[in-house]
Amino acid sequence: MSREIMVVNDSFTNCSDANFYGRISKASELSEESNCTVTAVCIGNFNDELKNVFEYGADKVLLCKYDGCSHTDFCRIADKIIAESRPKMIIFPGSELGRRCAASMSVKHEMGLTAECIDIEWNGEAFIYKRAAINSSAIVQIKCVNCETESCTVKDGVFLPNKVDTPKAENIELFDSSGADLELTDDIEVISCEKKEKSVSTFSKIAFGFGRGASDKETLDTIYENAAFFDAQVFGTRAVVEDELIDKEHQVGQSGISISPDVYVALGISGACQHVVGIKNAKKVIAVNQDENAPIFDYADYAVVGDAKEITKEIKKIIEYQKQ
Ligand SMILES: Cc1cc2nc3c(=O)[nH]c(=O)nc-3n(C[C@H](O)[C@H](O)[C@H](O)COP(=O)(O)OP(=O)(O)OC[C@H]3O[C@@H](n4cnc5c(N)ncnc54)[C@H](O)[C@@H]3O)c2cc1C
Repeated sequence: MSREIMVVNDSFTNCSDANFYGRISKASELSEESNCTVTAVCIGNFNDELKNVFEYGADKVLLCKYDGCSHTDFCRIADKIIAESRPKMIIFPGSELGRRCAASMSVKHEMGLTAECIDIEWNGEAFIYKRAAINSSAIVQIKCVNCETESCTVKDGVFLPNKVDTPKAENIELFDSSGADLELTDDIEVISCEKKEKSVSTFSKIAFGFGRGASDKETLDTIYENAAFFDAQVFGTRAVVEDELIDKEHQVGQSGISISPDVYVALGISGACQHVVGIKNAKKVIAVNQDENAPIFDYADYAVVGDAKEITKEIKKIIEYQKQ
């Protein structure tokens, strides 16, 4: 049986994405425990940045040079790769392209598929996939049975990129996609594709999150000022996105993004399970809420019961004092 973990890239042009490196790092960690190898599957037109994947623990790059940007062709190539390699596990990105490809491949190759996985562990015998379920009110653990290849999709920001101490020697294998002829309907026509500069970093060291309890203009202005001092990103709950106080790109949670900061400062956030599922990988959570029974305190490492407005102002005062 194959002992290969494949990590699929989701861009035809960009191989320098911290999220891709994060998924490779996770695969590398699992490979050590499960005695597997890690192959970075890169379908597209890449420059030398491709070699960076070795720093994050890849054993091999399987490079399929492809100049187009058709989702259907991507799936066809992935299909041929899977048919030829039958890896133990495939990690797909949680992007539109990754989810589409994972769904098609799981049917075609009878692979187990855990969508929107938030963690993967090796229990000594099998991979255990964790994901939120029942409207994010529970984290379930999934084990794939009776399938040669198992797979999952992982959203950006879930796994942190970690460089390995001793990268493997560069091993780039070219994959010949000729004859990739999976029958698929071309229902999406991609006219062009270009590298999008992301304004959101899911890996900033410090992140401020605000909810309805910290959403008046004065508090918000102060939160942004404080964030600028700490070089931190600002995120919001779905409630404040719906109130148009921050754009959807910065919504953390089940229907938004996942973030993995060292410190997450949750201001005036109730702590609904749909929100906290997006901060599962934050190393420390500091929560400020005036309701001592707010659910966010169940997840917080440090709980501050008080008015978010006053506490935000206090943080500003400390910053100003430090600047002097
Ligand atoms: C299918 C589905 C998907 C969802 N996806 C997401 C998602 O991705 N992300 C997300 O965030 N939500 C999501 N939600 C919504 C989620 O259930 C909550 O409704 C939302 O997170 C609540 O946002 P909030 O904490 O800002 O607001 P509220 O629930 O209104 O909470 C405000 C909090 O602020 C506190 N507060 C009030 N005034 C102050 C003050 N002066 N100082 C300090 N604290 C104060 C209150 O005590 C309260 O705890 C989803 C819901 C569903 C059904």
